[in-house]
Amino acid sequence: MVHLKTEEELVKIRESAQILGKAHGEVAKRLKVGIKTKELDRIAEEFIRDHGGTPSFKNYNGSFPASLCISVNEVVVHGFPGNYEIKEGDIISVDCGVQYKGYHSDSAYTYPLEGAGKEALLLLERTYESLFRGIEQAKAGNRMGDVSYAIQSYVENFGYGVVRELVGHGVGKSLHEDPEVPNFGKRGKGVKLVKGMVFAIEPMINMGTKNVVQERDGWTIRTSDRKPSAHFEHMVAIHEDKTEILTTHEYIEQNYPYKWRSKSQ
Ligand code: MG
Ligand code: MG
Repeated sequence: MVHLKTEEELVKIRESAQILGKAHGEVAKRLKVGIKTKELDRIAEEFIRDHGGTPSFKNYNGSFPASLCISVNEVVVHGFPGNYEIKEGDIISVDCGVQYKGYHSDSAYTYPLEGAGKEALLLLERTYESLFRGIEQAKAGNRMGDVSYAIQSYVENFGYGVVRELVGHGVGKSLHEDPEVPNFGKRGKGVKLVKGMVFAIEPMINMGTKNVVQERDGWTIRTSDRKPSAHFEHMVAIHEDKTEILTTHEYIEQNYPYKWRSKSQ
């Protein structure tokens, strides 16, 4: 069941999303060659708690061990922060969630390190673009399939694989609510988008095959051909006459020194 949000609820979600955006910004300041991914996790958790929030991911389902999902190169999503030291040329997806005043927020960004190849940069650029093509279709009166189709049709043009096993989702009092937001689908199909819906759009796009496998840790998802994967995520609120992007990558872009995107969104 889709829970439509009131204006009072949106106020809290916006506050949650601001803490989240700034937590991402703190990570962006420190994300460089040689840092261990568990150190980035510590920075995010500390920032979130210092600002009155709690990390949504920590102990999710009673088992996720960290505040961030950090997914390196061929890892699509749900990677554990740990002793891995970031290397030149890596692409690093950082996904974070915050709970504040009872409401969750959720967003993700994939960073290229200097030295990342041209093909990897194109994958990131195009995945980022697909997120905004999805957002453009996320408006009252459209169907979810319009969002899904916009993402899928754009990236498949380049021969990329769209992950099927994981999808975007409604967000609110729970981190994952209805509706589902697939990154593949047909125009005019799926749930109708109406005022009060809040959901995360999060294309997970692979350079090669769409197929993924789960590691034995029960969480980490990687591409089956071990080619790189990219992931960007924003949360939107549907209003009658406009769509609001609730989350922000602004603090990431301010703080991350490598200005890799060729155009601004
Ligand atoms: Mg999400
Ligand atoms: Mg996320």
